Amino acid sequence: RLKQGLVKTSRVLNTDIRDLFKQEGRLVDDEFLTELYAILVRTDMGVGPAGKIRDQVKTDFRGRVVHLSEVLTTVKTELVALMQQPETPIQFAESGPTVVMVVGVNGSGKTTSIAKLASYLKSQGKSVVLGAGDTFRAAAVEQLSIWADRLGVDIVKAEQGSDPASVAFKAVDFALQNNKDVVILDTAGRLQTQTNLMNELDKIRRVAGKKIEAAPHEVLLVLDATAGQNGISQAKGFSEAAQCTGIILTKLDGTAKGGVVVPIRQTFNLPVKYIGVGETPEDFALFNAEQFGDALFA
Ligand code: GDP
Repeated sequence: RLKQGLVKTSRVLNTDIRDLFKQEGRLVDDEFLTELYAILVRTDMGVGPAGKIRDQVKTDFRGRVVHLSEVLTTVKTELVALMQQPETPIQFAESGPTVVMVVGVNGSGKTTSIAKLASYLKSQGKSVVLGAGDTFRAAAVEQLSIWADRLGVDIVKAEQGSDPASVAFKAVDFALQNNKDVVILDTAGRLQTQTNLMNELDKIRRVAGKKIEAAPHEVLLVLDATAGQNGISQAKGFSEAAQCTGIILTKLDGTAKGGVVVPIRQTFNLPVKYIGVGETPEDFALFNAEQFGDALFA
């Protein structure tokens, strides 16, 4: 599934690099290195990292006639090293419900990611309740309700336009009363009113923290992989203001720019916790640099 989800990026790396080899082997000279560099840049990994990988290929093979597999091995090893981080699943509370806030710009795939995360946690035997805190968008509440029904998890919601913090309060309260393991709080994602939004997110944090001291235990930022470098810089301020603890990188299946994990790792001082590679709850995985590399070069 991961392999299928990353096929667009995988095609650039594998097919395009393979196309550099017209015969069995090829001489690693400046022309080859320049062509390789251009391919790497196309995956959106950034010019610095692409240069670093090219330089490693140069160190390993310059002046030699090499086979495709040798080059791919070096590229993969270097790329995995650039994406490396400890695998970081959600940190669960020692006792009582774990509160996870999910933030992100509208359209990034926030609602879908919440559904995927709920489904993932449920499959691990956790009981989950959703808090429909994006009260500004009726469609978001509706969409989340449909997911809750489909997944068989509880949902706490309120009238459109009501205070998101009160939804958070009720959802956390519901979890406490009903011994639920995890509360996932949806939040608004409208960027044009940044200050209001940040105040709103702060209020949700405070309200959750009033009910459970350490809450929210996680604040996950949903990032759209297809938004490219622009999307990253936009989300940076957002992540700092919302005190995020990790990233869910979505829509990796929709882009050949899966190398974007590298600048994300460099831009945010945050782990990529989960990735989304499609529209269904199954298209979701814990991020692991090696597995990601394996899927890209499978
Ligand atoms: P929100 O506005 O941030 O809540 O975004 P939604 O969760 O409603 O997602 C916006 C659109 O992106 C919907 O059509 C989703 O089906 C789609 N989407 C979300 N995640 C993924 C993903 O990982 N892959 C693909 N291909 N589509 C996705």
